[in-house]
Amino acid sequence: MTSRGCIRGCARRGVHFATCPAYGADDPDGTCTGCAPVDARDGALVCHRCYGKLRRRLETAPEIAAHLRRLARTGGSAKRYDRESHGRMPRRMAPVDPDVLDALRDVLDTLNATATADATPDEVHEIALGAAGAVLADYDAIVNDAGAFATWWQVTMPTQLPDWPEFWTIARAFARWPLEDRSGWAALPCPGCDLRMLRRIPPARAGVPEWYVCSSCEWERNDTDDDGLWALVIADAA
Ligand SMILES: [Zn+2]
Ligand SMILES: [Zn+2]
Ligand SMILES: [Zn+2]
Repeated sequence: MTSRGCIRGCARRGVHFATCPAYGADDPDGTCTGCAPVDARDGALVCHRCYGKLRRRLETAPEIAAHLRRLARTGGSAKRYDRESHGRMPRRMAPVDPDVLDALRDVLDTLNATATADATPDEVHEIALGAAGAVLADYDAIVNDAGAFATWWQVTMPTQLPDWPEFWTIARAFARWPLEDRSGWAALPCPGCDLRMLRRIPPARAGVPEWYVCSSCEWERNDTDDDGLWALVIADAA
């Protein structure tokens, strides 16, 4: 077992160092919500939560790329157009939102992929799937390389880059044009905190794992992880 802390500085909620004013306090004043570090995952420099967050974003990147391509084809405003035309067929295509095209380009750039302007959503999905697959094949190396992890995190996870606000990170594209939320509550309580706060996130497609993410504590695993209690949770909740 490892006892190294997550290099992103994740702290355990409600768990404090002995030097922290909240340590041992029955009723902490709220100045510190937790300062003891979350352990890094075995074989990684980051905790389970950081490992899973980045990985899940990369796993669903092909879905957001195809979604953006679809929006670009329908003009990104199909609903509004239908309502305006009172159910009759619109006489001309609604204009394409340039943000959709910028976002698609940036998401594909992040994955080191390109698609021609006339690529269909399925073709974009296929291209992005290959590119994301190449990144995920290296994921064990990425989570062991502080610089590589920080770089991937930066272009994927923040909803805005302060130095490059117009850039569409993968998370920014998700936030602006959300995909359907397919997650649900798991049947068993969280192995980390024992609360019934465990979300089950089914795989975006065949070949990627199902994820279990606690909404209360930092516990997070997927169905290919094999440590501890998760196996029971996943087996019983499936
Ligand atoms: Zn503290
Ligand atoms: Zn972390
Ligand atoms: Zn929990």
